[in-house]
Amino acid sequence: MKPLAGQVALVSGAARGIGWSIASMLIAEGAEVWFGVRKATPELEESVVSLGGERKGRVLELDVSSPDSIEAGVDRLLNQSGRIDILVNNAGIVHDGLLVRMKDEDFLDVLGTNLVGPFRLMRKVVKAMMKERYGRIVSISSIVGTTGNAGQANYAASKGGLVALSKSLALEVATRGITVNVVAPGFVETDMTGILPEKVREAALERIPVGRFGTASEISHAVRYLVSREAGFVTGQTLHVNGGMALV
Ligand code: NAP
Repeated sequence: MKPLAGQVALVSGAARGIGWSIASMLIAEGAEVWFGVRKATPELEESVVSLGGERKGRVLELDVSSPDSIEAGVDRLLNQSGRIDILVNNAGIVHDGLLVRMKDEDFLDVLGTNLVGPFRLMRKVVKAMMKERYGRIVSISSIVGTTGNAGQANYAASKGGLVALSKSLALEVATRGITVNVVAPGFVETDMTGILPEKVREAALERIPVGRFGTASEISHAVRYLVSREAGFVTGQTLHVNGGMALV
């Protein structure tokens, strides 16, 4: 039997990049997986179904910046699947710029998607997990949530906030069989880093002892451990996956 057989999972921002890799990994591990996406398309439905058949992979419209979308999306999941065992907060955005020139909306949009969205999702799913006395919550932060980064005050604040949010919830639900952890990637090859100018890429590579960017699959393998039953004694932790760029 596969390790996550019988379990139901939700991954936000699963249309591409790290989210797609995590959701696909969860299907391979035997879970029934809801791919949270901003916009469901027939092509996406087809790709998800092709991973594991209709029963294993489902597409769920879920815009994490919208409270209504979170309410409706999670209600639909619970109505159809009856439970939720795993939540992965992966959806994230950047709006980079120096703080002195940063507009309120650039700060609030990033906080809204990267921190308030996960807060609302956690609040909603943890009630269902408490009934089952079991749950695994993992949020995708970033190394800059610990180190800070010039030009990313909004993003770094949201990712640091995700760590503090996760630690606090971890303490609140520890006796209920629910763990709450964080994976903090460094530079990973996805669309998010694909837009970096060549000079920035080269400077980044010089700071990574392993000598390359990470892959989405390397992030999903870190998540794989934290969502396993065997990780039940690990909670409130941040697992850094950054090629040695920052040893924190
Ligand atoms: P990506 O390729 O840009 O993908 C981001 C995903 O999030 C997309 O599927 C996007 O949906 C979704 N998303 C954005 N806003 C959303 C919203 N309001 N509701 C639902 N989904 C939303 O990024 P990635 O590199 O895979 O990043 C995934 C996570 O890892 C993010 O939290 C990011 O901050 C974090 N991270 C990435 C790196 C890196 O180097 N790549 C490093 C550290 C941390 P659409 O497809 O609809 O746009």
